[in-house]
Amino acid sequence: MADLTGKLVLVVGPSGSGKGSIIRELRKKHPDWVYPVSHTTRPIRPGEEDGLVYRFISKEEFEKRITEGRFLEYAIVHGEHYYGTDKGRIMDGLEAGNVVVREVDIQGFNSIVEGIPGENLISVFVEVKSLEDLKERIRGRAEMSDEELERRMESARDEIAQADKCDFRIVNEAGQLEASVDKVEGMIGG
Ligand code: 5GP
Repeated sequence: MADLTGKLVLVVGPSGSGKGSIIRELRKKHPDWVYPVSHTTRPIRPGEEDGLVYRFISKEEFEKRITEGRFLEYAIVHGEHYYGTDKGRIMDGLEAGNVVVREVDIQGFNSIVEGIPGENLISVFVEVKSLEDLKERIRGRAEMSDEELERRMESARDEIAQADKCDFRIVNEAGQLEASVDKVEGMIGG
């Protein structure tokens, strides 16, 4: 592995905890940092732009990329769709000494800590006040079946049980996005 001088900031936490909003704000404040696109097989949601946070691809295309070794890590999230971080973009950023920010689920975090040296990694676990709060946020974000909601709550319980593995934990309170962003910036040292 070439010398890595940058920092990979992994934003972890249950779906609906507000990781995406925090990263959107960081992006506005620090356009010089790298925000790599991940690939996923889940359908695009209204309001999303292909190629900004995700590239939406078919299962066949995703599996082709797995065999080509193009992912730093990949996982099936909520027992349903593939998600994978792109190796090239992240490693190039780290080799160039950049701050690279990406959200991943806890499986992605567990894989990445195995491969990236600790001094190049910062992990932040974003949680909400209660599981009830989380349920409401997930419900408000996109329409989904009760079964799908239950799968997300199951993943959330699993993620929260592993939160202590991350370097930092923050509670992202409703209406307090700015405060959460400030805290994450402080952790990164930007
Ligand atoms: P959503 O479908 O709500 O955007 O994301 C579902 C979950 O997948 C979230 O917990 C999100 O952090 C996670 N995720 C997003 N991108 C990646 C990735 O590249 N790898 C992994 N392992 N998880 C990801």
